[in-house]
Amino acid sequence: MAVDYVDTLIADIRRLKKEKNAIILAHNYVLGDVQDVADFVGDSLELSKKARQVDEEVIVFCGVSFMAETAKILSPEKKVIHPVTAAGCPMADMADAPALRRFKQDHPDAVTVCYVNSSASLKAEVDICCTSSNAEEIIGLIPEDRRIIFLPDKNLGANVARATGRQMILWEGFCPTHMRLRPAMLERKKEEFPHAVVIAHPECRPEVLDLADYSLSTGGMLSFARSTEAKQLIVATELGIIHRLQKENPDKQFIPISEQAVCMTMKMIELEDVKRSLETLTPKVELEPDIITQAKAPIVRMIEQRLDI
Ligand code: SF4
Repeated sequence: MAVDYVDTLIADIRRLKKEKNAIILAHNYVLGDVQDVADFVGDSLELSKKARQVDEEVIVFCGVSFMAETAKILSPEKKVIHPVTAAGCPMADMADAPALRRFKQDHPDAVTVCYVNSSASLKAEVDICCTSSNAEEIIGLIPEDRRIIFLPDKNLGANVARATGRQMILWEGFCPTHMRLRPAMLERKKEEFPHAVVIAHPECRPEVLDLADYSLSTGGMLSFARSTEAKQLIVATELGIIHRLQKENPDKQFIPISEQAVCMTMKMIELEDVKRSLETLTPKVELEPDIITQAKAPIVRMIEQRLDI
């Protein structure tokens, strides 16, 4: 895009935000220029907390659908706009509420823990949610004698099971972007950059995490990058995070594990979509009131770190 055109778009978005009393929230994986125009950029947990506190009447959510739904569940009185409704999460689509209800019949005493990367109707069926940054703490809330169903991400579940020593019944879902990352890719990068520290997302296969120095959510990666003395970091997660890592740490080098680590749906929202959404205040996220009530309970338990079931 030509620079003048982009500058005009950005100026229009800033003006419209004020006119419509709107805030733009964006995930760490969305396009860099969308991150730059957002008021707040974060990982799923940070965005959930932020969505609960906003004063503005309108939330424009730049991320995938389950994130916009979570914002609506936590702030149902606000207008929540998701600029491109087709921007979904393939992993969230791997689990649905009827299938979970059937699954629970085989494990009736189990506590169900659901990664926030899931639909609102699935959240409405579970006991507590977690994100990649708090999953171990959430599992720690569950009494030792209770079995655990963890869904939908089998990699995150397996990695948390290893870290906590808890046995978990895992759903067969996965993130296609992280699943694409193979141990051999990381081995090649480590040979190329032998002094680099490796940070990897817990949605990666356990065999990839075995080769990493740290397992971190995207929010954790950003904190780590600010505080580490290391000057070179190999990053095993979706490429969008590199934009913010590099912007916040210009003196450090961030090396993606692979140029293939791209989540296409996270790249679907562009500046033009943000502008159009602000002009029209569409497409709105709409959820049934019952789903909002039922899905809110496990998200709030997660945020407040309590398991009162
Ligand atoms: S990166 Fe993976 S988990 Fe995140 S939105 Fe894309 S498919 Fe879903």
